[in-house]
Amino acid sequence: MRLTPLSTLSLLSMAVGLSFASTAQAARPEAPNLSNSEFQQCLDRLQNSSKFSGVNNSTFNNYRPSQPDPSVIQSLNYQPEFQKDVWDYLSVLVDKERVEDGIQAKRQWRDTLRQIESRYGVKAEHVLGVWGVESNFGQTLGKKPLFESLATLSCFDRRQSYFQGEYANALKIVQNGDIAPNDMTGSWAGAFGQTQFMPSTFLELAVDFDGDGRRDLVNNVPDALASTANFLDKRGYRTGEPWGYEVKLPNGFWAASNRKDKKSISHWRNQGLTLANGSTLPSDLSSAGLLLPAGMEGPAFLVGKNFDTFYSYNASENYALAIAHLSDLITREDSSKTDFVTAWPTDDPGISRQQAKDIQQALLNAGYDIGGVDGIIGDNTRTAIQQYQSSRGIFPADGRAGQKFHRAIVGNTAPSNPQFGQPSNGQPLNPASADRMGQLIQQQTSNPNTYSTQPSAQPSSAGNTRYRRITGADGVVKLVRIDEGS
Ligand code: CA
Repeated sequence: MRLTPLSTLSLLSMAVGLSFASTAQAARPEAPNLSNSEFQQCLDRLQNSSKFSGVNNSTFNNYRPSQPDPSVIQSLNYQPEFQKDVWDYLSVLVDKERVEDGIQAKRQWRDTLRQIESRYGVKAEHVLGVWGVESNFGQTLGKKPLFESLATLSCFDRRQSYFQGEYANALKIVQNGDIAPNDMTGSWAGAFGQTQFMPSTFLELAVDFDGDGRRDLVNNVPDALASTANFLDKRGYRTGEPWGYEVKLPNGFWAASNRKDKKSISHWRNQGLTLANGSTLPSDLSSAGLLLPAGMEGPAFLVGKNFDTFYSYNASENYALAIAHLSDLITREDSSKTDFVTAWPTDDPGISRQQAKDIQQALLNAGYDIGGVDGIIGDNTRTAIQQYQSSRGIFPADGRAGQKFHRAIVGNTAPSNPQFGQPSNGQPLNPASADRMGQLIQQQTSNPNTYSTQPSAQPSSAGNTRYRRITGADGVVKLVRIDEGS
């Protein structure tokens, strides 16, 4: 959720767990030294300002931070050097795991979703698509204390006026009794809860759907889902319309990507566009614009007004496309294929979260200290990837985790103790030892889930110890000796 460009970063880097940067050298500034006396004087001024007139003194004082949080200023000024490619962005947000979680959520919340659909006119899968992309179906909410973040942003650096309003709104939410103070945590910029609303959006659009008197978007799923539907409805959602669909462009066709330039479906039919499978464009969209996320060579889409309501959630076309695509796959209840009909114009597509976890485990096994295995390619993982690439002459050493790098590293590293798959916790960063490990256990090309101690050994040949790759419920990849019967 965002209302300004700032909370795009909040959402993507904190809630969804992505970063825009595609290289290890993204420019993350140092955390600044912030004067606490300056901070406290600022808070005194704010408390008496008109922006905080709706906030009681007791509320203000109860949640007044004792010191600023410099890390949010660091995040505010984080300027990644490169944009993420659209295929990297989509492959993480719309992968098998998220589709399966969405199908399960649809079954679990079927009755609630039906009631929401009849009250707001928003299709259940569209609500689920937003929920899945925003907070991974309520699993990723952000942990930064909101009052500390918003107070700091209200007193230092750019955009103070905007954040002062959000700080006051956050205090009003607690004052109203909607959200428990301890639940007021979220992204560095103040988006919080299962819908990742900013406080101002909460006050405008959050609803109490279960009727307990509180709009609890942190702990109450019906409240969160209904608030999402209310958001889409208020932004112009058209009941019964699809968001759009993937299309096929005729040979020789040229157009710029322009979602906002909406034309009738008959116009697009006359231009020679069809559905991606070649069949005639259906008549269920009143008007649609052409979206070409990767130019003429990649997947093409016609998108209607409902796509625009997804866009208004976060002001990013790639983000809206993730919601749209996830919604479709949840509707079809099919997680087996998450690609579009037309391939992305790349020979090195993006990876799923499971593949991100594989890479992280392999980096740990090779001695790179990247913290834990969480399936999120953040700065630490990216830096380690770049170091790994440099040490092995992999070009370009860009820190990007794509399919090619996944194949390269998962085929060439294994745990230092394969029986138990314990990651090494030190920081050896010693290419020599990692290389030896790479030579010791090499992936069998015939079976990607089986490793052998001999590069070209037959799977059944005696004298070779063979391992099977097991992915545990926690996502950690382990190698287990096959001859031990596991
Ligand atoms: Ca409620």
